[in-house]
Amino acid sequence: MIRRLLVAASIACPALPALAPVGGRAGGIAQAQAVSPSPTVTPPSDSLKVVLLGTGAGPPVNLQQYGMSTLIEAGGQRFLFDCGRGATLRLAQAGVPVRSITRVFLTHLHSDHLLQLPDLLLAGWAGGQRAVPLEVWGPAGTRDMMDHLQQAFAFDIRMRRDVDEHLPAAGITVVSHEVTTDSVVFAERGVTVTAFLVDHGPVQPAFGYRVDYRGRSVVLSGDTRVSENLVRHAHGTDVLVHEVIDPELARNRPDRPSAAIIESIIAHHTTPAQAGEVFRRVAPRLAVYSHAPNSERILAQTRAVYAGPLQGPEDLLTILIGAHIEVLHHTPPTTTAEVRRAVDSANSRLQRWYAAGQADSVASLFAVDARQMPPNSAPLVGRDSIRAYWAATLPLGQWRFELGTDDLLAADSIAVERGHYRLTFTAGSKAPMPSFQDRGNYVVLWRREGDGVWRVVWDAPVSVLPPAGR
Ligand SMILES: [Zn+2]
Ligand SMILES: [Zn+2]
Repeated sequence: MIRRLLVAASIACPALPALAPVGGRAGGIAQAQAVSPSPTVTPPSDSLKVVLLGTGAGPPVNLQQYGMSTLIEAGGQRFLFDCGRGATLRLAQAGVPVRSITRVFLTHLHSDHLLQLPDLLLAGWAGGQRAVPLEVWGPAGTRDMMDHLQQAFAFDIRMRRDVDEHLPAAGITVVSHEVTTDSVVFAERGVTVTAFLVDHGPVQPAFGYRVDYRGRSVVLSGDTRVSENLVRHAHGTDVLVHEVIDPELARNRPDRPSAAIIESIIAHHTTPAQAGEVFRRVAPRLAVYSHAPNSERILAQTRAVYAGPLQGPEDLLTILIGAHIEVLHHTPPTTTAEVRRAVDSANSRLQRWYAAGQADSVASLFAVDARQMPPNSAPLVGRDSIRAYWAATLPLGQWRFELGTDDLLAADSIAVERGHYRLTFTAGSKAPMPSFQDRGNYVVLWRREGDGVWRVVWDAPVSVLPPAGR
């Protein structure tokens, strides 16, 4: 028994390089490339999940950054904040059915935050069989706008509801809530949404939102110049998603509006130096840009004032806010260095999960057909047997792995990792074997699967210690 456990322990875990903390705050920030689209990243029950659906700013059509829209999931509920151009397309890319969006919060009524609302309303109903009303929160004018949408699409609605398809009538109705001042606008199943006034110049009122769930929180700035009210409401938040404008880019717009108009647009927004100062004062665990150009210049100008963790704007970026904050990029990795980061991230999660005794989570990073091949012992074949083995084994004590990747070779969706490990097992009271240490080398075959997640397919470790009892 001792020998089998010792041997199996040596294959426990592919390379687990330590996670480099960013910014020196508690709970490091793991960066993962090409981790999956949203549906496969189920947040733990005490976590908040944020998906930047669209991060583009202003009316111009932009194929890299769609219009402003942010999805937040908590406590089994979904909340959409703004619905700019392309929001329903990004939802589809994220694997989120449009019909499942029944609550929308608008920061203000600039069209770049609203353009996809008609599609959300109609596609969720006619294309998704939504049978409940769409609830919309927003500033004064929201109710009129939503009522006018009913008029604009009256023909389609009448056809599909009354004449042809007889779709459920409730699904095409809208319940509008007009927000007038700082207030809690939603509170259900542990999730609180608070609206607060921000300062978008003459565009009044404009709101930011804060979502709180089980001690985790995220704040969305909406469109604003530096807002003291935002700083107040963002106090103690985990993640602050803030807008920013690049004044240089604005002054060189191809459509060349007058200098006065450009300067007034800049004055309705926040510059990188100002945003950096806001981040410095709020000190979130992670600062994120959205409604922002995706440019190095913005980040460099911000870092001149703010030294904490900072993430630039990327459509479909997923942020998991829990004890750790994980940032999952949608862009598939194309270079060995990017695959290495994805593997490092997977390994650091495995390391935490082994130490925390979470066999289900460990198994989730092994392919369904994965094999672990312990020396001198029968292989574990398939994710289910790996899960069952660790569910029985992890509770026996504390499993601490110190592992390192020596090299990694990647081609397309396959990567081969070679590394070394060291394991310290501290026996718990129910362990049939004493505490021990083990060390050795391994080769792990990784595969990027259909959902974008890199998983272990084949795991071949070799302990350099003689088997126990010899
Ligand atoms: Zn805007
Ligand atoms: Zn605006």
